[in-house]
Amino acid sequence: MPPFRRFWQDKPLHELDAEEWEALCDGCGRCCLLKLEDADTGEIHYTNVACRLLDPDRCRCRDYARRAERIADCLMIRPEDPDVFDQLPDTCAYRLRAEGKPLPDWHPLISGDPDSVRAAGMSVAGRTVSEEWVHPEQLPEQIVTWVRPAPRRRTGT
Ligand code: SF4
Ligand code: SF4
Repeated sequence: MPPFRRFWQDKPLHELDAEEWEALCDGCGRCCLLKLEDADTGEIHYTNVACRLLDPDRCRCRDYARRAERIADCLMIRPEDPDVFDQLPDTCAYRLRAEGKPLPDWHPLISGDPDSVRAAGMSVAGRTVSEEWVHPEQLPEQIVTWVRPAPRRRTGT
């Protein structure tokens, strides 16, 4: 059965079926970037360095089914594990819905356009380097500022 209309706002996360759960991911790839935490402030900084399993152009995991076995740090997002939501970007659809917030206009479920994530500047596709090519000591040099929420588009006009 296809996902029913606006399931993402009508159902809590723990009631989504497998198809609906996967459809909620906007595919931005931001959760697959390596991050650094400021030891003094606790602030999280994103780098442009991606997990080695991330396809940099398609912005998809190359081994999604076995990601937990292959990458110890992969965030396995599950509704029964609420602590993981704090580790996700504040634009992540799972985090937004866990916090009771609406999806942004650029989310494909809202826009109806699979390319709207990239058009809004929210996708990391084509903007990353694999962790295989970056020494851990070089990570601070890879901190980026382009991972920011895009302005909301006007609707209804
Ligand atoms: S940050 Fe959230 S919405 Fe974006 S790819 Fe990761 S899980 Fe999907
Ligand atoms: S293993 Fe996890 S972090 Fe790495 S690309 Fe796949 S989903 Fe992203």
